[in-house]
Amino acid sequence: MRFDVLTLFPDIFRAVMNESIIGRAQESKIIQVNTINIRDFSTNKHRKVDDYPYGGGNGMVMTAQPIYDAYNSILTEVGNKPRVIYMSPQGRVLTQKIAEELKSYEHLVLLCGHYEGVDERIIEEIVDEEISIGDYVLTGGELPAMVLIDCVSRLIPGVLSNENSFTEESHYSGLLEYPQYTRPYEFNDRKVPEILMSGHHANIEKWRRQQALKRTYFKRPDLFERLSLSKEDKKKLQEILEQ
Ligand code: SAM
Repeated sequence: MRFDVLTLFPDIFRAVMNESIIGRAQESKIIQVNTINIRDFSTNKHRKVDDYPYGGGNGMVMTAQPIYDAYNSILTEVGNKPRVIYMSPQGRVLTQKIAEELKSYEHLVLLCGHYEGVDERIIEEIVDEEISIGDYVLTGGELPAMVLIDCVSRLIPGVLSNENSFTEESHYSGLLEYPQYTRPYEFNDRKVPEILMSGHHANIEKWRRQQALKRTYFKRPDLFERLSLSKEDKKKLQEILEQ
C-alpha cells in the first residue's frame, strides 16, 4: 500500500515512519510512505505557501496552487486517481472500522493542513474525504497523518508478526482487550493471575473473554452499549460481575 503525504514539514515524518514496525514494513516494501513538500511546488518567487484570509480574521491560510501542483505531480507519476484525504478536525473521526475501510485502497494521498487550514477550493477540487483524529484541534495535519498511516498499516498482512496479531486487540471486535502480563511472576507483591499459569487453554480463553467483556462494560460503556452479545457472552459477563 502506498501513502503519499502532502505537507509543509516532511522532516516531522522521518523519525516516526522510519522506526520499529512501520519502518520495517517500509523496508520490506509492504508499505511505502512518501512525503511531498508542498513548498517545492510554490510558483511564488519567495516560495510562499500561505496568505491572509479573505474577509479578515486570524492567522494564515494555505494557498491552493502549491497543493494542487504537488497533487498533480503524484497523478503524473501514477496515472490513476488515488483516494485523497484531508486531515481535518472537521472530518469523520477515525475509528478502527474506518481504518479497516481505508486499508482496501492501494494508494492514499494525505493532505496536511497548517495554520488556519487550506483554501476551501482545494478541498472541493481534489479531496475525497476529510478525516479527523479526534474532537480537538492540533497545529497541523502531520501527527494525524502519521496516526492514520500507523493504524491502517498494521492491518495490512505481513506488517505485524503473528504474535502481534491485531484480531484480539482493543476495538477489533468492538471489545477492549483483556489484561496482559509478562515476567516476572511477582512484581511489588502483585502476582500474575493463577489461571494464566495453569496451561489450560480453554480456561485461559474463557478468562480472557470475561476480562474483555468486564473491561468494556466498566471502561467504555458507550462501546458496550453498541455490542450485541451472544447468550454465552452474557452468561460469562454475569458470572464475572457476580464474583
Ligand atoms: N481552522 C481550522 C478549523 O477550525 O477547522 C483548524 C486548523 S488547524 C489549526 C491546522 C491543521 O491541523 C488543519 O488544517 C488540519 O490539517 C490539522 N488538524 C488539526 N486538528 C486536527 C484533527 N483533530 N484531526 C485531523 N487534523 C487536524
